[in-house]
Amino acid sequence: MTTATDLPHSNLARYQHVIDGRRVEAASGQRYDSVDPYLGAAWASAADGDAADVDLAVAAARRALDGPWGQLTGFGRAALMRRLGDLIARDADRLAEIETRDTGKLLREMRGQLGTIPQWFSYFSGLADKLEGTTIPGDKPNFLVYTRREPAGVVAAIVPWNSPLLLLCWKLAPALAAGCTMVAKPSDYSPASAVELAALMDEAGFPPGVFNVVTGFGPAVGKALAAHPDVDKIAFTGSAEVARLFQVYAGESNGKQVAVEAGGKSPQLVLADADLPAAASAIAWGIFYNAGQTCNAGSRVIVHNSVRDRLLDEIVRVTERTFKVGDPLDPATVMGPIVDSAQLAKVLGYVRTGVAQGARVVIGGDVVDGNYMAPTVLADVSNSDTVAREEIFGPVLAVIGFDGDADEGVRLANDTDFGLAASVWTRDISLAHKVARRLRAGTVWVNTFDASDVITPFGGFKATGAGRDKSLHALDAYTAVKTTWIDLT
Ligand code: NAD
Repeated sequence: MTTATDLPHSNLARYQHVIDGRRVEAASGQRYDSVDPYLGAAWASAADGDAADVDLAVAAARRALDGPWGQLTGFGRAALMRRLGDLIARDADRLAEIETRDTGKLLREMRGQLGTIPQWFSYFSGLADKLEGTTIPGDKPNFLVYTRREPAGVVAAIVPWNSPLLLLCWKLAPALAAGCTMVAKPSDYSPASAVELAALMDEAGFPPGVFNVVTGFGPAVGKALAAHPDVDKIAFTGSAEVARLFQVYAGESNGKQVAVEAGGKSPQLVLADADLPAAASAIAWGIFYNAGQTCNAGSRVIVHNSVRDRLLDEIVRVTERTFKVGDPLDPATVMGPIVDSAQLAKVLGYVRTGVAQGARVVIGGDVVDGNYMAPTVLADVSNSDTVAREEIFGPVLAVIGFDGDADEGVRLANDTDFGLAASVWTRDISLAHKVARRLRAGTVWVNTFDASDVITPFGGFKATGAGRDKSLHALDAYTAVKTTWIDLT
């Protein structure tokens, strides 16, 4: 079996950049440690890259695009992608454990994610040979005009730590199907699995340079990639704050394409006739799953005041019964740690600000132990309070009551800078459709939360983003349409 770590005499797993099919140290020689959030100690070290490494990786990606990879047909690309999916399935348990060490996320959750990744390659490999152009019947009879869908080019993928391989593969699978090459920059919190993926791509037979990995920190590696004149497209997932930087970097360089998928403050709108036990369960899972460190966490509940107290009672019951904290490798654990102590302090700060602004702590509100934050429900929140406006990225639910009809609930739900996801809970199916239509979010769920699969688009409105991952829309985003005119005279 191919693995990316190869220094058995070291206590720490050692990860290097992967450039042009070779594992290399940073040009500067610098390394940094990746900390296991559960143990609070380094478990791996990674190359600490900078612009010099980015230059080499982008040059390798360009050579691959202009070389054998660029000559492959869609059939050829599809065959390699299917092989890669099989190798990921073979190594899923090992990769899941690596991601748990890097991120503190539950092993069973990472196994679940790894279990779906082969599907991405299977779905998009099925599209690699279907990138058809058109002939255009224009009003100039002496011309033949046709279009081709060509690869967007060299893609820079910059991804966050909270689902490292899954989010990277959301970008990689359609990019490969389209014939692009890639330089990936995983989060500095989670460098390992992208390097492991590069080893599997090598084993699958992808030519060198098709997929390169430069590990390190955002301001050095991410910025250099975004600003690089030979990168054609940026595919970013991360916080809204950093997403805005990437839009600026892109504009200031060669005006490259930029797609950003950023954070959220997703509302769960509970109307007076909702099935409260079902809503409460989905609300608790929607915020406490992965300790709230999920882009589409349902962090804001907008509930009709006539059912608010009953809903709160149900949420508390589900939370106390379900969300046991513990070792992320233990299958009995339901909630893992916060990724690091700085983020934990930030989450606690939000809770204190919420209380200072008038919120009532219904459950939780403090640290449990180590890097663990108690699942926390804040009631009596106003939609203008900080905890209702900003993405906390921790297990903190803000509950906002409203009076009046569904219009008022929709108004509050839409009164946010973000637009990633939203749900509505009601037994009235025609009202559900009307509300779903009016919610300004990339995904709307009715009487459920967090359902997803590879073929449905995912992305957001407003500060959450520009562009969509998954589905046929994602494939479009990695192709460029070229029009050719032939004079027949
Ligand atoms: P982040 O924005 O801090 O980092 C994302 C990536 O950008 C990382 O690789 C990081 O190293 C890099 N980066 C950070 N600062 C940079 C800078 N100044 N210049 C260039 N690159 C920089 O996000 P995070 O903390 O890793 O992840 C959590 C965020 O990601 C949350 O906001 C979450 O909502 C969001 N997210 C969104 C989605 C989605 O699909 N919409 C999915 C998962 C996570």
